Parts: sequence; C-alpha cells; structure tokens
Amino acid sequence: MVFTTKSLKGQHHELADPFYQLNVLQQPSSHGDQFPAFAARLREHDLFPLTPTGTTILQVNVGKMCNQTCKHCHVDAGPDRKEIMTRETMQLCLDALLHAPQITTVDLTGGAPEMNPDFRWFVEELSKLGRQVIVRCNLTIILANKKYHSLPEFFKEHGVHVISSLPYFMASRTDAQRGDGVFDKSIKALQMLNAVGYGKEGSSFQLDLVYNPSGAFLPSSQKSLEGEFKRRLKSGYNIEFNNLFCITNLPVSRYLDYLMQSGNYESYMHKLIEAFNPAAAAGVMCRNTVSVGWDGYLYDCDFNQMLDLKVAQSAPQHIKDFSLEELDARQIILNQHCYGCTAGAGSSCGGETVK
Ligand code: SF4
Ligand code: SF4
Repeated sequence: MVFTTKSLKGQHHELADPFYQLNVLQQPSSHGDQFPAFAARLREHDLFPLTPTGTTILQVNVGKMCNQTCKHCHVDAGPDRKEIMTRETMQLCLDALLHAPQITTVDLTGGAPEMNPDFRWFVEELSKLGRQVIVRCNLTIILANKKYHSLPEFFKEHGVHVISSLPYFMASRTDAQRGDGVFDKSIKALQMLNAVGYGKEGSSFQLDLVYNPSGAFLPSSQKSLEGEFKRRLKSGYNIEFNNLFCITNLPVSRYLDYLMQSGNYESYMHKLIEAFNPAAAAGVMCRNTVSVGWDGYLYDCDFNQMLDLKVAQSAPQHIKDFSLEELDARQIILNQHCYGCTAGAGSSCGGETVK
C-alpha cells in the first residue's frame, strides 16, 4: 500500500503556514537560551551579507503535486497539492533565459515535475535553448501511470540529467521514509533508466541518486556511502548509477514536523549548529542559483521558497521582471534553517559542497 497521508496543508496543520514555521525556528531552546543566529555566524567569518557569486543555475519548481507523500518532504508535496506552474509562467522562464546566457543549467523540481501537464513541452523548449536540463525524478512516477512509462526515452532524447532520491539500498528504510512499496518501484524505474543507457559506465546519460538520513542525524561521508550504494545496488539488482549526493535534512515543513513530533527538534538544531563549517557556508547553493516558484515568484533557494522568503526587495520579485544583473547584486535572505546547508561537508541539491 502506497502512503495516502495528506500533506500538512491538506490536514490544515499549523506547520503548513510558513510564518508559523519561521516562528518555530526563532524560538529559544527549552533552557531559555537563543540558538545563535545564522547571520551572526556568517558575520564571524566575514561572509555576511551573503551575496551571489554569479547565477548559473535556474531552479524551477513546476508544482507541488506529487504521487508520493514522503515523510521528510520540505515542499509538503502530495497528491492533494494542486499548485501547478502554467505554460504562461514557463514561457516567462524561457524569456528570462534567452537574456541570461550565463545560466547554463535549468533544474526542474516539484512535487513530481513530470505531473505538470506542460512538463514535456517545457523540457523540449529548454533543450532548444541549449541549456542542460536536470529533472528531479522521484522514480516511482515512471511506473505510476502508462503515460509516464516512456519517460526514460524522453529524458534520453533531450539529454536530461536525472537526479533521483533513494534514501537507502534496502526496502525497509526507503519505504519507511517514502511510503510502502516505493523501494520496489524505484528499483524497477532505475532498471528502466539503465536499460536506455542512463547511469551506465561510458554513457553520457547521467543518473545520480540522492541519499538523505532517515532520522534526526547528519549524513555520513558521501564517498563511502556512494561505494556502499554502488556495491549493493549492483549485486542485488544489477543497477548502475553515476554519483550519490548526500543531503542534510533541513528543519522545514514535514521534516520540521517530524523533528517536533519525535522530540528531536532542539537536539537536531544543536547538531547542525555545532557542525557549522565556514567552508561549507562559502559554497552554499544560493550563491549560484535562483529559484522560481510555481507562480513565478523568485527565491534564493527551494527551502526559502517553502518558507515564503522571497528574494531581497532590491531584486525583481517575479520572473516576469527577471534581471540577472539585479539578482546577482542582491543580498541572500537567511534564517535558522540555513544551518542545514553549512553542517559538516555542507549540503546542496548536488550533495556535499566541501570536497
Ligand atoms: S520528497 Fe519528492 S517524491 Fe517525496 S513527496 Fe516530496 S516532492 Fe514528492
Ligand atoms: S537554506 Fe537556502 S538561503 Fe539558506 S544557506 Fe541554504 S541555500 Fe542558502
């Protein structure tokens, strides 16, 4: 049985409100002391205000609808979310890209981006512009409906770089986080991607996997986990992939809910704060990425998007007014969740940031 749990929004949960989440993140610990402000930590290392190093990636969230309802989803995505980017807004993204050749990569995320009815059209148009397209594919979508079965061939045709979450190489841990039966379907989808050439040695079709911890702990070394994932997936299922990205869970949305429900919120924040790494702070992904919401509003990253923290007022707020020059001159909006990007070896949509 696949998870049928409603999103926080569908449950009318208080954490569905970004303002409420930010309020939680600002609260002192149960001992009455404040968690050190993230901005102050950056200031100690001459990194405040944090500014872009030059935008090369446009991350576009094409909607919050998803066929899964994973426990740790920072988007609060699910089948009950109806927010979907229109073709008109996609066209505004294409117009913006036309005037921004510095942006070489477009990273499509969701929800399950493939559920947007204009997804294939958008990928085709982005390919025509000569941009590298990344799709954050949750794997199970490929098997969710007959109309998605051809996605591996479609990805291949457009040279899409596929990045997919697989929390573990065993069913129990994957299903506990993403829903019953998700592991088996993910394995089948990975085999379908391998069959058309994705992730195979010597192939140019890139298939990367994403690991994120199942509990209130930080990920271990990306390199050693990658080796283990490769061995286990090859021996158990004859699956190959290129890289494993280890991502730290940020205290946002459903993961914040999990931390609070399990009584781990404070200890997790302490872990993130203690593991603050200035080298990781210097390489956070918001320095080279601009994130577009389903309705066209602009954010420093997907996490800020879910917390409704739009880019600084000095910069254009909406894709229709896109100006790379003005966006590259902005100050990045920070809050306490940012500690998740700077812990240990760092964390971004491409995994560790400190090599
Ligand atoms: S983590 Fe990804 S696959 Fe899971 S519910 Fe969120 S958007 Fe969907
Ligand atoms: S959460 Fe977003 S804004 Fe904060 S450091 Fe990470 S990428 Fe940057």
